[in-house]
Amino acid sequence: MTEPSLGPRPGAPQPFPDAGAAIRRSQEYSFSPFWFYDRCESSGGEPAGEAFQVRSNDGAEREKAVIAFGPVPSRRLGRSLGINNIPPKICTYACVYCQLGRTLKMQAERKFFYPPEEIFQAVQEKAEKAKRGGESIDYLTFVPDGEPTLDLNLGRAIDLLKKVDIPIAVITNSSLIGQPDVRKDLMAADWVSLKMDAIDEKVWRRILRPHGKVKLASLIEGALEFSRAFQGQLATETMLVEGINDSPPLLEEVADFVARLKPSVAYLAVPTRPPAESWVRPPGEDVLNRAFQVFRKKIDRVEYLIGYEGNAFSSTGNVEEDLLSITSVHPMREKAVSEFLARAGSDWSSVQRLISQGQLVEAEYGGHKFFLRKLRKPDGGKSLSSAGRPGG
Ligand code: SF4
Repeated sequence: MTEPSLGPRPGAPQPFPDAGAAIRRSQEYSFSPFWFYDRCESSGGEPAGEAFQVRSNDGAEREKAVIAFGPVPSRRLGRSLGINNIPPKICTYACVYCQLGRTLKMQAERKFFYPPEEIFQAVQEKAEKAKRGGESIDYLTFVPDGEPTLDLNLGRAIDLLKKVDIPIAVITNSSLIGQPDVRKDLMAADWVSLKMDAIDEKVWRRILRPHGKVKLASLIEGALEFSRAFQGQLATETMLVEGINDSPPLLEEVADFVARLKPSVAYLAVPTRPPAESWVRPPGEDVLNRAFQVFRKKIDRVEYLIGYEGNAFSSTGNVEEDLLSITSVHPMREKAVSEFLARAGSDWSSVQRLISQGQLVEAEYGGHKFFLRKLRKPDGGKSLSSAGRPGG
């Protein structure tokens, strides 16, 4: 996508100077329609978050929380209407790369947040408004300002939302998947994405910084059990951070585990927004290519989520645009590029032009040459090269 300057990051104070400031900031963020935009890889259009008056189950009146967003375009889910079922930012993890900033409240126990009827009402109104405006919606997606499975009402909300008659997706960090009640809730969704960044305990702790009560062994067992029982579409998402989980043995290990989950698609992501910790860097394109090849050996469908709205599955008829789209989803072998160019009646000058413009890069793996979309800096600015990545 054209990366607009999105989300709470620009100008966000880090770390928050004090708890009061953090809460004020979080309230500001909770009304930002751009959060969902950010997370759904939106490429444009009106974000259209709609303020909603809700009460939490403890009876406290909450000021206009944004529960339903969009619909916005998402590469994973088509046109997606976002559901924010968690107040910002309550999470079981404090990931070093989190684009929402540092976790305001670490929590591992499920709780009631918003009444499911309020969620249903917000989503239904948004869906009807979209319909009146001639906009289609492919998925209703739980993608909140925290971890969606922390919501004890998640299952009830999903049940109610079935009435809207649009498939339901949940993007979870997997931390609570070891709990039978969480698996039961997720089982009712049509599409579930599980975060799988690391299987090595030390690396998992370093990158995700889990709440003390979250246990990796339980996560692993729970994910396997869920994958065996889930009848919907299962996806996984692995965020790669330079120097933390991108070494060959760690990639092999996590790819082996992801393969056991038999996902319909395994996504490889890199931080493309300003992360919670300023030292976080995406791996270089050569490492990203290696990661793809390692995963691809074990898993049928692997795709990048690297901050571009690539669509390798439809052609614009413009050779250069199509090459950029395809390589934003997966690397292309030299032979595949040759065949593509021949079919399009073009030649290697297009590729050379994209390389000289810094939009495409070459990488070697297993004795083959691959072409990849060049990465951007996490602040959405200029492209990155493998060497000399700037700080930030
Ligand atoms: S799990 Fe998601 S919301 Fe929670 S800290 Fe990690 S990236 Fe942020």
